[in-house]
Amino acid sequence: MVLEVIVDISSSEVDRAFDYEGVDCPIGSRVVVEFGRQHMIGFVIGKKERSEYANLKKAKYLDTPINEEQLALMDYMRKAYNLRYIDVLRLFVPAKLREERDPEFTRIFLTVDDSRPLEELKSIVGDRAKKQLEALDFIAATSGQFLTLLVGKFGASAINGLRDKGVLVESKVHERSAPLGTLKKDKKPVVLTPDQQIAVEKIVNGKGVFLLHGVTGSGKTEIYETVIEKFLEQGKTAIMLVPEISLTPQMLGLFRARFGENVAILHSGLNAAERYDEWKRLHDGEARIAIGARSAIFAPLKNIGAIIIDEEHDTSYLSESNPRYDTKVIAKFRAKNNDAVLVLGSATPDMETYLKATDGEYELITLNKRISAYALPEMEIVDMTQEFRQGNRGLFSKTLEEAIREKLDKKEQVMLFLNRRGYASFIRCKECGYIAKCEDCDISLTYHKEDNELKCHYCGRRYRMLTKCPNCGSTEIKQGRIGTEKVVDELKKLFPNVRTLRMDNDTTVRKDGYFKILNAFSNGEADVLVGTQMIAKGHDFPNVTLVGILEADQALYFSDYRSSERTFQLITQVAGRAGRADKEGRVILQTYAPKHYVFRFGKSYDYLGFWKKEINTRLVTKFPPYTKIVRVLLTSLEEDDVVNSTRNIYRGIQALEREHGKFVYLGAARSPVTRMNGLVRYQVMMRLVPEEFDMIISDVYKLCDENKPKKGSGFVEINPQSLI
Ligand code: ADP
Ligand code: ZN
Ligand code: ZN
Repeated sequence: MVLEVIVDISSSEVDRAFDYEGVDCPIGSRVVVEFGRQHMIGFVIGKKERSEYANLKKAKYLDTPINEEQLALMDYMRKAYNLRYIDVLRLFVPAKLREERDPEFTRIFLTVDDSRPLEELKSIVGDRAKKQLEALDFIAATSGQFLTLLVGKFGASAINGLRDKGVLVESKVHERSAPLGTLKKDKKPVVLTPDQQIAVEKIVNGKGVFLLHGVTGSGKTEIYETVIEKFLEQGKTAIMLVPEISLTPQMLGLFRARFGENVAILHSGLNAAERYDEWKRLHDGEARIAIGARSAIFAPLKNIGAIIIDEEHDTSYLSESNPRYDTKVIAKFRAKNNDAVLVLGSATPDMETYLKATDGEYELITLNKRISAYALPEMEIVDMTQEFRQGNRGLFSKTLEEAIREKLDKKEQVMLFLNRRGYASFIRCKECGYIAKCEDCDISLTYHKEDNELKCHYCGRRYRMLTKCPNCGSTEIKQGRIGTEKVVDELKKLFPNVRTLRMDNDTTVRKDGYFKILNAFSNGEADVLVGTQMIAKGHDFPNVTLVGILEADQALYFSDYRSSERTFQLITQVAGRAGRADKEGRVILQTYAPKHYVFRFGKSYDYLGFWKKEINTRLVTKFPPYTKIVRVLLTSLEEDDVVNSTRNIYRGIQALEREHGKFVYLGAARSPVTRMNGLVRYQVMMRLVPEEFDMIISDVYKLCDENKPKKGSGFVEINPQSLI
């Protein structure tokens, strides 16, 4: 049989299948092949009777880790995202399966045959086989060793010689490491509320995609679990996705407690062996629920009944480096192919998701009430321009300062949240609240220190840096970035004895930093936790009764058409941290733009009101979901090289525009950050209505591939999160 094999090698030149001679095995099988002068792992993606090439090399069959549905997904992803075969295939198998050795084989454990005396075994080996005798002594002295270690120490021929002489006993040792230990099923069943019950019924008896829109604490997790349980009863499997940051031990514990060994967990904290074990349990049907961050969408499950995406608006579901993909799009594809339901859950759904729910493309299920008796606390909005005019130059308004004092006196806890995204800064007048925006796009301009200019990230237009406010003439307009350290310093000046903890990118460099800080705070080791958006999610702290949002505007004026949406999501989530248990909470939000609709609707958690206003803005300004933003980013060591490439691609796209009619926007320019890591950066930007996008995207991919810079790279981004 001729096998068409994708070899596991990262090179654009070999992004095609090679013919090998091998046994008739299913497509999706893993084989070892000779490639160049090396032995490499490959994946069978097709079979045929004969090849146009003579003298084919042999492929040795190992196993079949990938199923046909996944191969269909591979074809789909290649087209939709312009990906290479191998980059997709690697998403389907754990790293361990990409090593040449068979993972079972590496675990062979050898001991000496102790039914006979060692001297007798030595005489069987014979005096002349010095290496073998040495190895035999070593195995005896250490009461057994793994085959891999022995081969490494004594060489394959010595060890195989010993094995052939029958002086060793071999056993396959399979240490299976369940990442959470073996938790028993001991969950007390709760009685679903009528709302929850209706939601479960609709989903289990329904079809297609559901949007479960429920305020925080409305019992969505309980619904997910019950839905999964019902599908398991029908003999089906399920995938449950959560943002990486929500994969807390508590959350995993909940699922383990309810479903026991039926759950396999896939997340970045696992080592290669643990990851392989969890993957294999799913592949072999021993575990039927895959739970994890975005990559768990590729779980090797068959007969999927439900795919659930919690916090569906979360940006961690977008992969923004190779391979680029949108988890929701993949989930839709797999759900359709498996005839499964897809549930998207959120308190603040993505704009586009909610649009599809109102269009009837998705079925909308709304949960308006919290399970606990306490309603969400109302947000108090403090106008910081007012404070500034009254002479308060500090970070804390009088209202917030007094509230903190009161909580510290009562020995209750406080969270202070710095709403910040990325490193970009914008220009705002502290006197009147004026914001510098692009005249063409109505998007906040970003200050670029290196050229002392203001830039629009959407059209590339540049503006001279302002020295005073065009609105009121004040010179207090430059926006310095405020870090968590500064907040802690100022807090200590106001409250000398306060105990604080700080959470941001600096304090969580180590993976466990995040949990350590949260645990310390939960144990009452500090009065105030100061942090960035990292503290917005997960974790309930029953003793937290005050949440302060400083700099609520920092995310709002980030140069991004999604700024308002992100800000609404963040403040809703942060506010949900206050008063989750039996104590009533208070939320104080400081802003220079108290009348902005984000705060007007955010104040009372009016998602629908916000959505209607925001979606109208998107329609009028022609931003997603009514258009798609496409950026072709080109980089090179040499300016000429990248300029040439940009020009060719731009001309190609202009030709497409002539063919299909005028695009919403098309332009080519230097990127906002003109140099990065020694590479010059240019870009071609487009805004396209969805029909145009569908018609031309594959041509854009082709243009980019055929014209990329010779001394650099080029790739296409769709609705990218960052446009630096
Ligand atoms: P969400 O995921 O919407 O934020 P959760 O599912 O975490 O909400 O529910 C909030 C709290 O209410 C949790 O402590 C959960 O255990 C509890 N809860 C959910 N449903 C019920 C129910 N039917 N009866 C009692 N408690 C419930
Ligand atoms: Zn602009
Ligand atoms: Zn002003």
